[in-house]
Parts: sequence; C-alpha cells; structure tokens
Amino acid sequence: MFEEFKKTLRLCTTCPSLCQSACPVFIQDGNKSHSPWGIMNILNRVRKKEMPFTPAVAALTYQCLGCMACSEQCEHDIEIPPVLLSARAKAVEMDIAPDPIKEYIAKFHRHNNPHARDLLKKLYNTLPARYFKKSASVAYYSSCTTIHRCPEIIRDTFSLFDKLKIDFVTPYADPIQCCGYPLITAGAEYDFVDLAEVNFHSLKKYKLIVTGSPACAYTLKTTYAKYDFKLPAPVVSINQFLKPYLKNINYRLKKNVRTKLMYHDPCYLARHLDEHELPREMIAGASGTQPGEFYNNRKNTSCSGHGGTYPIIEDNHACEIIKTRLDECTEKKINMIVTQCPSCIHKMREHGRKFIVKDVISYINDCVEEPEGEYQDARHSRARSTP
Ligand code: SF4
Ligand code: SF4
Repeated sequence: MFEEFKKTLRLCTTCPSLCQSACPVFIQDGNKSHSPWGIMNILNRVRKKEMPFTPAVAALTYQCLGCMACSEQCEHDIEIPPVLLSARAKAVEMDIAPDPIKEYIAKFHRHNNPHARDLLKKLYNTLPARYFKKSASVAYYSSCTTIHRCPEIIRDTFSLFDKLKIDFVTPYADPIQCCGYPLITAGAEYDFVDLAEVNFHSLKKYKLIVTGSPACAYTLKTTYAKYDFKLPAPVVSINQFLKPYLKNINYRLKKNVRTKLMYHDPCYLARHLDEHELPREMIAGASGTQPGEFYNNRKNTSCSGHGGTYPIIEDNHACEIIKTRLDECTEKKINMIVTQCPSCIHKMREHGRKFIVKDVISYINDCVEEPEGEYQDARHSRARSTP
C-alpha cells in the first residue's frame, strides 16, 4: 500500500520535520502525530507493512487542511495533500474513514453539495431572471458555498458586470452547483469522478468559465484534468477575467471607502493558483488605498482553518485557527477584512462579528459608483421568474 509514494514518504520520514512550524494544524494542537512529518512517518510504516492501515491511521490523514503551507518550506518540493487524499480514498474504499466523514459524504448525496440544499433554486432566487442567458458563451461558476453562505458576492459580481458593461456572462445554472471539491477532500473519489463527469458534459459548451471561488477554480482546472475531464474552455479566476475591464475603468470612485482594511490571502488563491498580487492591485486601484498586510501573507499566508474536511472532524481547532488570524486584525486596529474564499468569509464573519468581512469583488463593487442612468441594482429587482 502507498508504494506509489515511496520516495516522498521516505524523504519525509528522514527529514527533521522542517515544515512543521508552518503547519496550522500542528501549530494549533501541538500533536507531533498531526504534523506533516508525523502523518507521513506513520504512512511510511504502513507502506513497509510494519503496521496495518487501521481506522486510527485513516483518521490521521484527515488532520490536514490541504493548505500547502508545508510545501512552501520544503527543500524537496514535496506536496503532502496529494498523498493524504490518496490515503483518504483508500480509507473510504475500505470503509474505515471517520464516522463524521461518512456522514458528510452521505449528506452530500442529498443534493449533490455539502450543504444538502437545492442550490440551483437558491441561485435563481439570488439574481433577477435577466442575468440567466441560455446563449451566453461565458459561464460564471458561483460555487456551492458562495450560493449558500455568501450570495451577496454573486449579486455584487453581476452588479459590477453591469457597471463595466459586461453583458455576455451567465450564471452557471445546472442542477449540480458543486465542483466536487468536498468529495475529493473527503476521500470519496469514485463519487467525485461521477459528479465531475456530469459537470464536464454540462460545462464543455462554454468558451470560458469564470469563478470567484479559488477552490472551484483549482478543482475545475487541475483536478478535473487529472481525472481525464480536462475542460476545453479555460477556467479563470474572476480577478483575471476582470483585470482588462478594470484597467480602463473610468468610473467615479466613492469617497467613503477609505476604511483601514487588511487583505487575507486564501490558500487556494495564493498558493494553489499563485495569484496574490492581482487582488491587491485591484483593491488599491479601485480605492486608492493599499490594503494592510497580515504577518503571514502572499504565498506564506496562514490558512483560516476551514480548508477541506478539517472542520468536519476538528471544529474546535478550526475555530481556534481562525481566531488567531482575527486576533491579528484586532492587534492592528483593523475593522475590515477583504478576502476571496466563501469559507473564509463565512467563518470570519461568524467568529469576528466586530469586523466587516467582504469578498474582493464586493469591495470593488462598493468602491465603483454606477454610471448615471445605466445601472440597475440587482438587489432592488428581485421580482423574477425561474427561466
Ligand atoms: S514535506 Fe518536506 S519539510 Fe515537510 S516533512 Fe516532508 S520532507 Fe520534511
Ligand atoms: S497542507 Fe497545511 S495542514 Fe496539511 S500538512 Fe501541510 S501545512 Fe499542515
């Protein structure tokens, strides 16, 4: 078992755990068995048949956020998450995954998303009917967590499209509103493949896929390709898509947006997609103010603690991790946090009620005043019918 990772597992086992100081899980719980080195050491022993792959060992593989902070420190360019995802897939296949993970997967199957809700219905209720265009060649992929937790991001995105006269994008409106990232991180690999295949056939008609969720962007672009569902259309972040439109922006900027704010780099955007300067440039360009910085920023950002399935099994630790991030805002006397991950936004709001927490696009939309007479705010025109 795990022979395909032999080289990686051996390198980690003989390493003096150089990356543990960057691992949010180890920093939070101090348990050496939960450090990248600790988990890899145990898996290497399973590989060498020195111990069996038991439910306890399987549970260890879920002690990871998938944040890739360890890889930034690793001299051998090792990536821990792919090894752990493979081990989780084995755990699910052997039916030895932790019970909360089994329940999470079962919950997912109710509506093909982790929130067990009809999210297409909610998407239709989020935007006026005029935005849903059957003939559009560019799809905006909302993300299940954005629809469920932060639907204002979707409204703000289409409001900004209106201001920038972008009228050729449609919200992706198929029954499945999840890319499958929760399944793959839970270890439900076969279920992920089934879902990815359905999404692949629905998405392949578009010429461009735009998403405001970094985890969705990475999954649709990279994980789908890994499972032979390479989408013919490019998948781009909303920032990359908007960049040329914002460059020539000729709108009046609101004067009341010069709030002291900090930008939090989501792991999937800054590390997995290598996008850290563009959101800062957009914020500075729209507001005339450089965002403040966390001590750990850009590719060295600290995870908010809610990556993958970690909060499903370690909710208390996940909450402590995000509180540490928020404490830094208190220390720096900041009252607004701007970021770009629906899970970070939702959890930062939950744990940091004194802060205003906004998505980058919502912030930009707030900054840019509407051109006179042409903008109709989507928030004020809810009356709509399902197309
Ligand atoms: S990922 Fe790199 S730094 Fe971390 S334990 Fe493995 S070899 Fe060492
Ligand atoms: S990906 Fe993040 S949580 Fe997982 S082992 Fe590496 S640093 Fe720790």
